[in-house]
Amino acid sequence: MNIAKLNNSPYDANAYLVDGTILVDVGMDGGFILSELKKRILPTDLETIILTHCHYDHSGAAEEVSAATGAKIAIHRDDAPLLKDASASASKLFGKKAPHIKPDILLKGGEVIGGLEVIHTPGHTPGGICLYDKETKNLFSGDTVFQDGSFGRTDLYGGSSERLVDSIKKLTLLDVKIMYPGHGDIVSNNANEQIKLSLTMASQFF
Ligand SMILES: [Zn+2]
Ligand SMILES: [Zn+2]
Repeated sequence: MNIAKLNNSPYDANAYLVDGTILVDVGMDGGFILSELKKRILPTDLETIILTHCHYDHSGAAEEVSAATGAKIAIHRDDAPLLKDASASASKLFGKKAPHIKPDILLKGGEVIGGLEVIHTPGHTPGGICLYDKETKNLFSGDTVFQDGSFGRTDLYGGSSERLVDSIKKLTLLDVKIMYPGHGDIVSNNANEQIKLSLTMASQFF
């Protein structure tokens, strides 16, 4: 599995290009993402944009990148209706109107897209997902868990501390070699331990 992190801005969500055909989150800056894609692939080779959740910093450029590449947009069915709501998508927090994103594929968890298994991990948002590749043990963790035991906030629209703790528990049952979070650095050392630490921290925090 070939994975490229396309952006390094601390203000934008991470966008990852997987095997040249899948984009895991797209961030807010479509022009930038398209120019990064063009360095690596033919834009029309992009097949699917999988959004880990509805938040604007992950999804804002989805329609623009989809229109330019023809890639289909996939998101969990519980977050799909929130994309167009300025509060629920948090676009308001970024001083933006909610973009008109029309998802092509509604997920419920359990699907496998390009080798990535969809795991429904609600808590940060109702339809948050993580993506896991059994073969390489790569995990895309969205805004559910991050490096060093940190975890997603639950005080935004549709958030639930209880559900987040349950979701992190699910992740501790996986064997993760490398974790690709929605923000911050890629975790390639002791990913399993770091996810367990997130569970401990979240259980104590809430
Ligand atoms: Zn985020
Ligand atoms: Zn988020």
